[in-house]
Order: sequence, then C-alpha cells, then structure tokens
Amino acid sequence: MAEKALVLAEVSEGELRNVSFEVIAAGRKVVGDNEVVALLCGDDVSAFSETLIHHGADRVILAEHEDLQNYTTDAYKQAIEQVIEAESPDALLFPHTSPGKDVAPRIATKLDSGLVSDVVELEVDGDEVVFTRPIYSGKAFEKKNVPGSPIFATFRPNNIPPLEADSSRTGETSEVAVEIKDLRTVIKDVIKKTSGGVDLSEASVIVAGGRGVKSAEGFEPLYELADVLGGAVGASRGASDAEYCEYSLQIGQTGKVVTPDLYIAVGISGAIQHLAGMSNSKCIVAINKDAEAPIFDIADYSLTGDLFEIVPLLTEEFKKV
Ligand code: FAD
Repeated sequence: MAEKALVLAEVSEGELRNVSFEVIAAGRKVVGDNEVVALLCGDDVSAFSETLIHHGADRVILAEHEDLQNYTTDAYKQAIEQVIEAESPDALLFPHTSPGKDVAPRIATKLDSGLVSDVVELEVDGDEVVFTRPIYSGKAFEKKNVPGSPIFATFRPNNIPPLEADSSRTGETSEVAVEIKDLRTVIKDVIKKTSGGVDLSEASVIVAGGRGVKSAEGFEPLYELADVLGGAVGASRGASDAEYCEYSLQIGQTGKVVTPDLYIAVGISGAIQHLAGMSNSKCIVAINKDAEAPIFDIADYSLTGDLFEIVPLLTEEFKKV
C-alpha cells in the first residue's frame, strides 16, 4: 500500500468540482488506512477545505496565491512541484480535466515518473495498483500500472464513485507559501462562452443535439428537457459546425469526452468520432427518425421518430415525476 497520496482538488468558477471527491476516493483505495492529502490551489479557496475532509481527505494543503486564481501551466506546475517536494507523496492522483491533463505529464517528466492518464477504474492488489483506461476511442480498455514510486494517474470525471460525505470527519488544514516566478503566460481576462448551468464534463445527465435539430431554435426543447432532468446540453460536431450552438458543447474525438449516467442523443447519426466522446455513458437513449442510424447500435433505448415530437413529450412526462 502507498503511504501517502497527494490528490489535486479542483476549483472552477468559484465551485469545487465533483471530480475532486472522486480522486479522493481513488486515493483512499490506493493508501487504505494511510494518508490522503488533498491539495487546493487558488486565490481564495480555504472555504472548500472542510468539504474535502468530509469527503475523505485526511489533510488539506492550501496553496493560495494571486497567480493561482486561474489555471496557467507555469504557475500551477511550480506550486504543485513545491508541495510534492515538501510532502514526498508516493502516489499522485489528479483529475483528468483540462488543468490535470496539462500539468500531470509535465510533473511526471520532472519526477522522471510514469503516468497513467484517463483512468476509469482501479484495483489494488497488495502493493500493486492496476489502472484501467479506455483506448481506441473507447472501443477497448487496457490495464496498466506504474512500477516504482510515485504511482501517478489522472482520473476521468464521473467514473470513480465518491465516498459518502461524513460531516463528523475532521482533519488538519495547513497553508503553504508557494513561490511563483517567471510566468510565461498571464491571464488578462476570462470570457465565458456558455451561459452557466451544469458543467458538461461533470453532468450526470446530458441531452445532446445533432444536425437533425436543424437550427439554434431547434435546440430550445433540448434545453427544456435538460433543465427538467437537472442535466446539461451537449452537441455533435455536425450541430456545432452548423452554428446551432457553441463549439464548447461539442462532444467527441475533437470535443469533450463525457461519461454521464444518462446520455440522450437527439438527431445524432452516431459517427465514430462522436461515439469516441460518449460511448462509455452508463445509459444511452437515442432519438432518430432513421431506424438504421448507427447510434441505435450502441443505444440502450432506441426511439425511432421525429425529435420535434418526442423531445417535448419526454419533457412533459419527466415534469410529472
Ligand atoms: P448527421 O450525421 O448529419 O446526422 C443527423 C441525424 O439526425 C441523422 O441520423 C438523421 O436521421 C437525424 N434526423 C434528422 N432529422 C430528424 C428529426 N426530425 N428527428 C429525428 N432525427 C432526425 N463529430 C462529433 O460529433 N464530434 C467530434 O468530436 C468529431 N470529431 C471529428 C474529427 C474528425 C477528424 C472528423 C473527420 C470528423 C469529426 N466529427 C466529429 C464529425 C463526424 O464524422 C460526423 O460528421 C458528425 O458527428 C455528424 O454529426 P450529426 O450526427 O449531428 O449529423
């Protein structure tokens, strides 16, 4: 068993991301009764420390600095490396999010360590931790470990079940003074392209529209269905290329990779590049007027018909639940 897991918690737009709890749960599996230390980087993030402890962290380290308010490679890499040097963890577990994907390989290189990225499952057998990750756009899975120390992995959101929150858990929170210098990039402004709501990469329900939705107005009923289900709206590249919605909603090989509990594909044909981003969803519902559409091959529930009739009906029915 590893002695100490350092897990990177993530705050985005003033909110602690759920994937932080999932990575803590992974850390608990890796260290057993040993120590899970959560690292929170940011400008003003101390308020989240208690929540991390309730979700299974034994200790929280706060690295607060004005240059950590928004993610930049240089600033986060420097802060994380300083904490690693002070703590000497033998397991490093990060979220497989934009910041985690960017910083983890750089830190692995610096430590001359292996790294298993995009993990969806892990098994611990004595001292060995075996990570499972999808390959070939989700068509197959491979199992990998990291020989030697530290064990280093990034975790795809929505796959490792978080531990149940326990408000009676207590733990120490300490602040670390990190030195950040020689930044090669500085964030001047953040311009949001989406109008808030549920974060697509962490949503447990996604209603995704394709070219079949036909227009930006055609997406409105999808937003209504997503609202009723407490979910987020996504899109195929067909829909985003046609400017029915923002590119930030695109799911697939060149878009976001998602693993919600429920994925409702509306007017999406099911091209291989789209499946690469959503085929590991736990339950897939497809709505398409073409009974031969390839999306039906991977759907758990297939609704053949006109999306403009079916989507409002679903919304009405779910409103009653
Ligand atoms: P279409 O294939 O045009 O499908 C529209 C569907 O809507 C059809 O099945 C039709 O039967 C149905 N439909 C039409 N009207 C109705 C109605 N009234 N009711 C019900 N159903 C209806 N695509 C992605 O999605 N994500 C990616 O990341 C991505 N990356 C790519 C990378 C590369 C290098 C390449 C080459 C392509 C990539 N693509 C990606 C594009 C991909 O190949 C497809 O072109 C795209 O996914 C098609 O989008 P679509 O299913 O919305 O459109």
